[in-house]
Amino acid sequence: MATVRFKALEGLLARKAVEFNRPSNCISDYYGKLVFDRKKMKGYLSKEAFRIVCDAIDNGTTIDRKLADQVAIGMKAWAIENGATHYTHWFHPLTEGTAEKHDAFIEPTEDGTVIESFSGKLLAQQEPDASSFPSGGIRNTFEARGYTAWDVSSPAFIVGTTLCVPTIFISYTGEALDYKTPLLKALNVVDKAAVDVCQYFDKNVTKVWANLGWEQEYFLVDEGLYLARPDLNLTGRTLMGHSSAKDQQLEDHYFASIPERVSAFMMEMEYECHLLGIPVKTRHNEVAPNQFELAPVYEEANLANDHNQLVMDVMRRVARHHGFRVLLHEKPFAGINGSGKHCNWSLATNTGVCLHSPGKNPKSNMQFLTFVVNSIKAVFDNQDLLRASIMSATNMHRLGANEAPPAIISVFLGDYVSKMLDLLEEAVSEGKMTPDEKTTLKLDIGRIPEILLDNTDRNRTSPFAFTGNRFEFRAVGSSANCASAMIALNTAVASQLIDFKKDVDALIEKGDKKDEAIFKVLKKYIKLCKTIRFDGNGYGEEWKVEAAERGLTNITSVPEALKAYTSEKTIKLFEKLGVLSSVELHARAEVELEKFMKKLQIEARVFGDLAMNHIVPTCVNYQTQLVQNVSGLKEIFSAEEFEELAAGRKDMIREISQRVSYITTKVDEMVEARKVANVIEDAREKAEAYDSTVRPFLEDIRYHIDKLELLVDNELWPLPKYRELLFAR
Ligand code: ADP
Ligand code: MG
Repeated sequence: MATVRFKALEGLLARKAVEFNRPSNCISDYYGKLVFDRKKMKGYLSKEAFRIVCDAIDNGTTIDRKLADQVAIGMKAWAIENGATHYTHWFHPLTEGTAEKHDAFIEPTEDGTVIESFSGKLLAQQEPDASSFPSGGIRNTFEARGYTAWDVSSPAFIVGTTLCVPTIFISYTGEALDYKTPLLKALNVVDKAAVDVCQYFDKNVTKVWANLGWEQEYFLVDEGLYLARPDLNLTGRTLMGHSSAKDQQLEDHYFASIPERVSAFMMEMEYECHLLGIPVKTRHNEVAPNQFELAPVYEEANLANDHNQLVMDVMRRVARHHGFRVLLHEKPFAGINGSGKHCNWSLATNTGVCLHSPGKNPKSNMQFLTFVVNSIKAVFDNQDLLRASIMSATNMHRLGANEAPPAIISVFLGDYVSKMLDLLEEAVSEGKMTPDEKTTLKLDIGRIPEILLDNTDRNRTSPFAFTGNRFEFRAVGSSANCASAMIALNTAVASQLIDFKKDVDALIEKGDKKDEAIFKVLKKYIKLCKTIRFDGNGYGEEWKVEAAERGLTNITSVPEALKAYTSEKTIKLFEKLGVLSSVELHARAEVELEKFMKKLQIEARVFGDLAMNHIVPTCVNYQTQLVQNVSGLKEIFSAEEFEELAAGRKDMIREISQRVSYITTKVDEMVEARKVANVIEDAREKAEAYDSTVRPFLEDIRYHIDKLELLVDNELWPLPKYRELLFAR
C-alpha cells in the first residue's frame, strides 16, 4: 500500500511477524507459569510460611521479618529456576505506566566470587531515589527518599529475566506517591462499610471485594508509518491530518474478521498475558479502522489494576515484534472514535454473592436494591470527583466526542431497575407501613429476575451504566491507570454505605422494623438522586441542555475539572475515611495539572516544528513548481489562451500562499503565547493559560494544514496520511 513517498518504509511494512513458541494449545497448561501464586508458594514455602502469607493476602495481617526471609528464599529459588537473574520492586508512580529498577540477585563473597541472594528485607521494603518522580510538592529535594513496600495481595511475577514484586510507593514522611497506596485503602474502607451493611441481610458476610473487569481499547499502526509521524511518536496522537475519504462510515470494521498480522500480534500478546496469570479472554475489532479491544475476566480490583498496567506494557512490547506500534492515547485520530477503558465494577461477598446482581428471593433482591441505590447516590453526590478522576490532557479529547460519554456524569439503569426504583419510591409510605404494604412491596421486589443481563438494553452513551450485574464506568480513558477511577468510586461508595447504615439504624432506634427502615431510607435516596438517572442518548445536544436544567455539572476543561480534587467536600470525604490526606489530595491535583500542562506544552512544540519544518517548506516547494508551470504556460500560449489555461493553478497558488501566510503568522503567535504561559509560577494558572491561550492555536492552524494536505502533490506530502495510518494492517 505504501505510496512512493514511503518507499523506504516498505521493508518495515512487509515485515513478517516473528514466530513464537507456544508450548501447548491448552492455555491451562501454561497459564500463570510466571507468577508466584499460591500453588507455587505451596511448593516453595514451609507450611507455616505458606499459611501466614495466605493469611496476609486474605485478611491483611502482617508478615514479620523472619518469615519474610523465608518467603524471599522460596521466591528466589522459584524465580531462578524460571530464568530470573534480577529482581525489582514494581510500582505505579503518578506518571503514566509503572516503574522498576532492576538489581541482580548477586552478593560478593570473600573469595571474589558471587552467590545468589535475596532477603526478606529486600523483599519487604526498598528505598529507591524518588527525586525524579512527580510528588506534587510533597517531597523536598533534601528528602528525596521514597519507600517501596511489598503488596502481598498481588503476586510476584517474572518479566524477561526479572522477578517483579508489586509494591506501594510512599514518601519519607509517609505520604502516598503512587496509585496503589490509596487504592488499597479505598478497597479496604469499602470492604468494611459494605460488610456492615450486608449484616442487615446475612450475618455470614465478613468480607466484601470490589471487582474490576477492564475493557482495553487501542489502535495499532504500522511501525514504519508511525516512525514517519513525529507527532504520533512524541505525543501519542496525530496533531494534524485530513480525514480519510473512507473511515468508519460503513461500520465494517467492528467485529469483522481480525486481520492476519493483527491476529498474530494478539496471539503472542495473549500468550504472554496468560503466562503472567492475566485472564485475558475477549478480543475483537472495534468501530474505528485499526482499532481493537481486549478484555479479561474480572478480578479483585487491585490485582485487576496491576494486570491492566502490565497488559499495557506487554502490548507495547509485543506490538514491535509484529511491526506495529500500539496507540493507547484516547484520541489518536480526529473525526473517528477514540479509545476508552470501560471499568466494570461490582462488589462481591465471601459468601459468593455479587451485591450488584439481583438474587433469587425478596431478601437478596432487597440487598441488591440497597447496593444499587447506594451506588447511584454515591455517584450523584460525587459526580465532580468522579469526573476529576478520569480527566486528563488525553481523555479530554474523547469526552463528548465520537462514541464516548460526555463530561456530564449520569447513570443509566435500564427499564427493569428503573421500574423497581420507581415502585419503591411510590410504594413506601412516609409513616408506618401496614403489614399489607410491606408484603406487597416484598413480593414485588421478589419479582426481579435473577438474570437481568438480557433485560438491560445496551445504552452505549452513558458514562456510568448498569449492565445486569455490575456498573460500567465508561468514561475512563484508554491510557489511564484504572486506580484513579477506582479510588474515587470505592471511597465514595464506602462513605455512602456508612451514611446509609447510620440512617437505617436511626430509624430502627425510633422503633421501625429493619426492613421498613431500609425501605424508607432507600426511598429517600431514590428521590434525592433522581436527576442523575438518564437512560436517553447521552451524546445528543438536547441532553446537555436537559442536564443543565437538572443541575448536573458539565465541565470540559481539565484544570476546572481537577478542582474537585481539592474541594472541601472531597477533602472531608477522603480524610474521614483515611484514604488520602488533604496534603496528598493537593499534591495529586498538582501532579495532574502539571501533567496536563506539560502535555500541551509538548504538543505545541511538536506542532510548531511540524508546521514550520515539514508542512510550510513542502507547500512552498509545491507552490514554486506551480509558479514555474504558470510562467512556462505564459511563454507558450497567447495571452488569451493563457488566462483560461492557468486559471485553476493561479487559484491554487493563491490559496497555498494565503494558508501558508496564515500558518506562519499563527505559529509565531502560538510561540509568543507559550512564552507568556511558561513564566507563570502557579501550577493551576499555568495549566489554565496553556488551556485557554495555547491550545486553541493547534485546532485553528490544523484546519489550514489539513486543507493544504488535499491541495499539495501527494508525492511531496511529508507525513503519512490518515488513509495509510488507518488502513495499513
Ligand atoms: P461488553 O459487552 O460490555 O463489551 P465484555 O463481556 O466484553 O462486555 O466485558 C465485560 C467485562 O466485565 C469483562 O471484563 C467481564 O469479566 C467483566 N464483568 C462481568 N461481570 C462482572 C461483575 N459482576 N463485576 C465486575 N466485572 C464484571
Ligand atoms: Mg462494556
